[in-house]
Amino acid sequence: MRSLWIDEEAARCHTELALRVYTSRLLGREPALVLHGGGNTSVKIVEQNLFAEEERILYIKGSGWDLRSIEEAGFAPVRLQPMLRLARLESLSDPAMVNALCTHMTRASAPTPSVETILHAVLPYTYVDHTHADAVVTLTNTPDGQERVRELYGDRAVIIPYTMPGFDLARLVAERFPAQSSQHTIGMVLMNHGVFSFGDSAQESYERMIELVTLAEDYLAAKDAWELAVEPAAIAQQALRMEMVALRYDVSQVIGAPVIVAADQHPRAMAFIQRPDLQEISQRGPATPDHIIRTKRLPQLGRDVSSYAQAYRRYFERHRDDSPTRLTMLDAAPRVVLDEALGLCTVGRSAQDAAVVRDIYRHTMDIIERATRLNGYQALPEKALFQVEYWDLEQAKLRKNANPPVFTGEVALVTGAASGIGRACFESLAARGAAVAGLDIDPMIESMWEDAEAAGMLGIRCDITQDRQIQDALERTVRAFGGVDILVLNAGIFPMSCRIAELTEQAWRDVMSVNLDANVNLMREAHPLLRLAPRGGRVIIIGSKNVLAPGPGAAAYSASKAALNQLGRVAAMEWAGDNIRVNAIHPNAVFDTGIWTKKVLASRAAQYGLSVEAYQRRNLLGVKVTSKDVAELAAEMCGPVFSRTTGAQVPVDGGDERII
Ligand code: ZN
Repeated sequence: MRSLWIDEEAARCHTELALRVYTSRLLGREPALVLHGGGNTSVKIVEQNLFAEEERILYIKGSGWDLRSIEEAGFAPVRLQPMLRLARLESLSDPAMVNALCTHMTRASAPTPSVETILHAVLPYTYVDHTHADAVVTLTNTPDGQERVRELYGDRAVIIPYTMPGFDLARLVAERFPAQSSQHTIGMVLMNHGVFSFGDSAQESYERMIELVTLAEDYLAAKDAWELAVEPAAIAQQALRMEMVALRYDVSQVIGAPVIVAADQHPRAMAFIQRPDLQEISQRGPATPDHIIRTKRLPQLGRDVSSYAQAYRRYFERHRDDSPTRLTMLDAAPRVVLDEALGLCTVGRSAQDAAVVRDIYRHTMDIIERATRLNGYQALPEKALFQVEYWDLEQAKLRKNANPPVFTGEVALVTGAASGIGRACFESLAARGAAVAGLDIDPMIESMWEDAEAAGMLGIRCDITQDRQIQDALERTVRAFGGVDILVLNAGIFPMSCRIAELTEQAWRDVMSVNLDANVNLMREAHPLLRLAPRGGRVIIIGSKNVLAPGPGAAAYSASKAALNQLGRVAAMEWAGDNIRVNAIHPNAVFDTGIWTKKVLASRAAQYGLSVEAYQRRNLLGVKVTSKDVAELAAEMCGPVFSRTTGAQVPVDGGDERII
């Protein structure tokens, strides 16, 4: 592992806290050190209080902050002296500890200090860095891990046997560290958990972390346990979406809410899953205890969710009485599913959550394989892991999103999503928590949302008149998110005005093929997916005022939209039994779309002898109708307010005499 320290960058940090932020971010940039909120760092600084007295303040990572993006505000300033006294107590309950940490802060608005605050306090060094480095964790998760670590580090690192994080660990370290450390000590290894480094300066502490980790990597390399070959694993080429959708349905049932299931078919993952000893090596536990709240203790092998859930309930029953307090069982569903065909499937309430689980498990697979090359992967005993999984301070990390948005865990697919109403629908659904796939013939769709797939936004270039491309788009969507719950049929073309007498067969067919035929195909292909939507499927047809009040010169467009509308009404009847709602909305005079350039708008307004402003408000209510207005209605119609409505047609046009 190489140091990312750059003198010029560091020179821009003028305080110790600024340097603490700098090297914390360097640690956070390396996923083989820490992942998604893991690890923590601190610095002890002498400051003057309001009484002009000098006090030592421990700046420690606040809970909820990620090392990769932490700022000065993410460090909680805690008075050091009371922390050292706390470490000498015989015992301290979690609520009392958290209360003590918070009441000894010098800034009331600071985040809650890390649960490892007392541990950082007792280590007698200015800078303290803590990570769950893959290489070190690999060594400690082997049957003779302790000897290996001792052999590797000698007196450079103090070794602490596994103890539950929090007060007990801090107390143990306070007790053992002074006796076991020497002037050679640069770090500390917590068995089955991670590694600490310390120093007088930010650079020293950070570079010692890199040094300790590099030593572990070199050790593994020397034992031929570092390079992991990417075996050319067989990766299924056939469509897998029905299998994915069924898996997601089952997981959602156990959790009691819709979830995102993301499939990862990276060759490394496939090579791991296809190992003949998978059953044996994968069923031992996570690499470091705090991963358990993301990955659960064990991955599910294959697709039998109900057996997994039964086993999880038995595990809960085995350990529930270990706790002094009455525990409520968490949901019994897996977070990681390893399947020979589907690959590494990860489960989350949102696409972001599923991506976090994927990242953690990718590292877990490497750790397991490397430890297996040494002399076997050995995780903590079930009981110790249960204790962390049901530790209130761990669960609190997941409770931050207690009121998720309405479509959390659901998946929407919007056609014609690169601009206008389609793009607005994409955004309205995403704003309500859905993972959204946006289809468009415009290649721009692929790059519209940067780094977006992990954030639940997927742009797919797709000509919906091509059946093959529809199939591929559905396949990609389902592999990314696990299903399709909401389908918004928006893509359409609006040709130049043309009377029937002049209408060519080709012009007629072009309109029909996009506005009608493509939608029939998409509805047919999406139906089996919508049928397995955990909360029931929803289809929104973006119709047109022309369906109810046609005008001359738009025969093909009006006929195609009317036919699509009728198709939706039939679907509402045919699919009600599958718990799929189909509704249409009829926008009119939405001028913030691609076809309405300033020039077109001005010339049209002139035709009516109106100003552009007056022309845009030419409806009963005298309001402008924007793409966003249409999109918000579309999104609401997919939500609980319209849960008893199917086969409806709702205009969104500011009121039109011909329609009323
Ligand atoms: Zn840790």
